[in-house]
Amino acid sequence: MATSRILVADDDEAVLESVAWLLQENGYDVVPANGGVSCIEQLEKRAPDLILLDILMPDADGCQLLERIKGDDRWRDLPVLMLSAQPPEEASVKSLGLGAADFIRKPYRPKELLARVQAQLRMGALLRSTRAALMRTEEQLVRAQQDADSRRKLVDILHEVTGDLSVSELFHLLVRRAARALGVSHCSVVLARPGEPQATVVAAFENPGLQHLPVQLERYPELKAALDSGQPVLVEDLDTHPLYEGVRHVWGIEGLEVPIRSVIALPFSIDRGQYGVFLVRRTRDQERFGPADLEFAQAVITAAVAVIQRAQMVESTMADNARLEQLAQTDPLTQLLNRRALTERIAAEMERTLRYDSTMALLMIDLDHFKRVNDTYGHLVGDDVLRDVAPLLSDTIRTADIVARYGGEEFLVLLPETDDAGAESFADRIRRAIETHPFASDSLPEPLRLTASIGVAVYPAARIESVEDLFARADAALYRAKADGRNRVRL
Ligand code: GH3
Ligand code: MG
Ligand code: MG
Repeated sequence: MATSRILVADDDEAVLESVAWLLQENGYDVVPANGGVSCIEQLEKRAPDLILLDILMPDADGCQLLERIKGDDRWRDLPVLMLSAQPPEEASVKSLGLGAADFIRKPYRPKELLARVQAQLRMGALLRSTRAALMRTEEQLVRAQQDADSRRKLVDILHEVTGDLSVSELFHLLVRRAARALGVSHCSVVLARPGEPQATVVAAFENPGLQHLPVQLERYPELKAALDSGQPVLVEDLDTHPLYEGVRHVWGIEGLEVPIRSVIALPFSIDRGQYGVFLVRRTRDQERFGPADLEFAQAVITAAVAVIQRAQMVESTMADNARLEQLAQTDPLTQLLNRRALTERIAAEMERTLRYDSTMALLMIDLDHFKRVNDTYGHLVGDDVLRDVAPLLSDTIRTADIVARYGGEEFLVLLPETDDAGAESFADRIRRAIETHPFASDSLPEPLRLTASIGVAVYPAARIESVEDLFARADAALYRAKADGRNRVRL
């Protein structure tokens, strides 16, 4: 440790000499000052580690001097030990109030003086190191603040990003926001699959309408390098960077003036097998990118990828939900709507019919003697037949009509905007279509012939108020069709 310097200011030559000697003997560097003026001169030259200050000097009031020292930013933290022959209470109270570190009475006892000096030097060192630590903390705070600024920008970038944006919308949003935050003219998201020579630009700040622009990786060495290495690529200057040697040559041959000067390419992976590069570029008239830009761009892309992953999850969950919903409405054997789904549509259609003072019809179709098919050829053939009925019905209906499987070998057809006569003739068309259709199955030597009976109910009608009423009416009509000999339509 460096020797501590102690400035001793006293007008009494004898005291000055003895104190200086005592301190030097104990290994301190001593700077003597024989009065207030000299004390300040010495202080100006070089600040000591400690001051021993006499309270009473002819050219200066020690207390005023103390005040001046403590009032100066350069010396504020210097420990000052006051020396005085004055009655201790008076002098010490005053000087300690002014910021003196301690008080020593004259005549002093050497051991006490040394002990107090030592204690003050230790305190001073502690104070200095605390101050240094404080300064470091302040610097860290400033850095944290700057970080917070970047983070705020990030939050800004991702601010609009909520679950209801599609991944493609997200990419567009990302390039827009990142371009602004990074102060770049060119910013794009490029998607690629490993090993493929081609990539796709899915969003570009400089070309907002762009959706899918294929690019050849051999023309974009920074993309290729980022994808191949999985590491960020910073190209401060395209004109000199070795990565571009090949393409620079090509540009030369083609007479291509590339406006870009500086490039950052950041690779990321959204899910297994889907890789991307976040590409930011600056033109020749803009500042070149440096490592700080790279760092910030990387923070942006890390946060963005998390958001994109979340959005993708939302998208696929929504797709799953749609698929589940679809499943819940579909009859697995025929892929027609099931009864539950049709029931909902019938209810809505009945309401609409009333509102528009229109009519609608429901056909209940039941295959005749279907049990025999199963009994003769087996259930699998029966299933094939049922599967075969579905397209037969679907091909016969109009766009607005809906076909469903009611259950077993029974089907329903909902006919909006249809009256009794229309429904009857439509039902008869279906009846004939079934009657004339050759139902084939792999295990059948020759196609089967089948017939169906159809019950028709029309709405509005007396005593039909609910979907169940309508079903019951169609069922009753179907029963009559069966009773009347099958292969016929009854209303
Ligand atoms: P009807 O002319 O009186 O309608 O006679 P049917 O034999 O068609 O009527 P019934 O209601 O007695 O029998 C219906 C048969 O349909 C019974 C059942 O084996 C068969 N069936 C119902 N659902 C399925 C299915 O999903 N697959 C197969 N293969 N057969 C089914
Ligand atoms: Mg039946
Ligand atoms: Mg039947």
